[in-house]
Amino acid sequence: LIGADGHAAPTIFEEMTAAAQRTGAVNLGQGFPDTDGPEELRQIAANGVLGSLNQYAPGAGHPLLRAAISQHQREWYGLEVQPEREVVVTSGATEAIAATLLAFCTPGSNVVVLEPFYDSYGAIASLAGAELHPVPLLAPGFQPDLAGLEAAVDERTAVIIVNDPHNPTGTRFDDATRAKLVELAARHDAVLLADEVYEHLVFDGQHRPLATLPGAWERTITVSSAGKTFSLTGWKIGWATGPESLIAALRTVKQFLSYSSGPAFQPAVAHGLGLPREFFAERAADLARRSHILADGLRAAGATVHLPQGGYFVIADLAPLGIRDATAAARALPQEVGVVGIPVGVFCVPEHEPAFRSLLRFAHCKQDAVISEATARLRTGL
Ligand code: PMP
Ligand code: GLN
Repeated sequence: LIGADGHAAPTIFEEMTAAAQRTGAVNLGQGFPDTDGPEELRQIAANGVLGSLNQYAPGAGHPLLRAAISQHQREWYGLEVQPEREVVVTSGATEAIAATLLAFCTPGSNVVVLEPFYDSYGAIASLAGAELHPVPLLAPGFQPDLAGLEAAVDERTAVIIVNDPHNPTGTRFDDATRAKLVELAARHDAVLLADEVYEHLVFDGQHRPLATLPGAWERTITVSSAGKTFSLTGWKIGWATGPESLIAALRTVKQFLSYSSGPAFQPAVAHGLGLPREFFAERAADLARRSHILADGLRAAGATVHLPQGGYFVIADLAPLGIRDATAAARALPQEVGVVGIPVGVFCVPEHEPAFRSLLRFAHCKQDAVISEATARLRTGL
């Protein structure tokens, strides 16, 4: 977490967004939409700010939002979640992840992750004194090897993190993998942390939460985020649902992380969760369309592309262009080609990074013209 100069190293996302600003490059690095979420939600939040929602929200979350989350889980997934005891609203999914790892890990615990993995997992595991045990997801399928999973989970495993749909690969895990993860967690009495922030951004069919699998509910914390679902990443409103015994532990930790989160945003998100299904379907279809524009452009530039099944990102393999080190390429691209992407190697532990070295992650949660400009630059500049 600390750089060579003794100061906190900026995250890769901050570093690459700063590079985009410095060079004027097109930013397909950090995953944030370049158009804001629905005006009706923003209006409700504005009314809250101009009204009286400016003091601390209840620590567990505004009752309206907890009720909406409960109703959403029932209507979309058939999950019964008690709003009083089985929900906690957090400052983004990031805080829900932090609270889970801090609640269930002790020094010497293991945390199993599917690699490449979202950067906060490793950082918070290390703050909790836990050791990361990554199971690689290799191209082209990006599904874990079941024997590898079996070998990674043992009695020291406190938490298994399952990010589905997956950042950065865009993979959705198959049923055999998901059932294996639940079985291993039960066998070794581990908590499953289901990071499902992209639940509404799936491109074919519907998301099915890990918590709906047989035997999963009682040991699963499910995390989501209004940032992704509604293109409101700056609001940092997320939540966790799960059985009372697990959520109680998260609420305890959250009290001392942020205590409470964005009061004026919470009723707006509650309204959003109740929008008609067409709203969600249209957004997912639009995002899928943009992933194809990006994928076509990357192919035209000479890369091999792994099409995502959901989420914000497309993975490009630069090896066919003779570029084996995408980390070095990513550092040169803003200046030399005018495009920012994130090297997949930064989501891996150093020992495993070589297997991912030629891969770059590009975000497609951007306007069509922005994606087209980026791929035009890559076509001529790579
Ligand atoms: N998990 C994953 C997989 C993500 O991609 C992100 C955001 N990039 C987060 C968690 C964090 O979400 P939030 O912004 O709501 O904290
Ligand atoms: N989740 C976003 C991504 O993967 C970044 C969030 C952040 O900057 N921490 O790009």
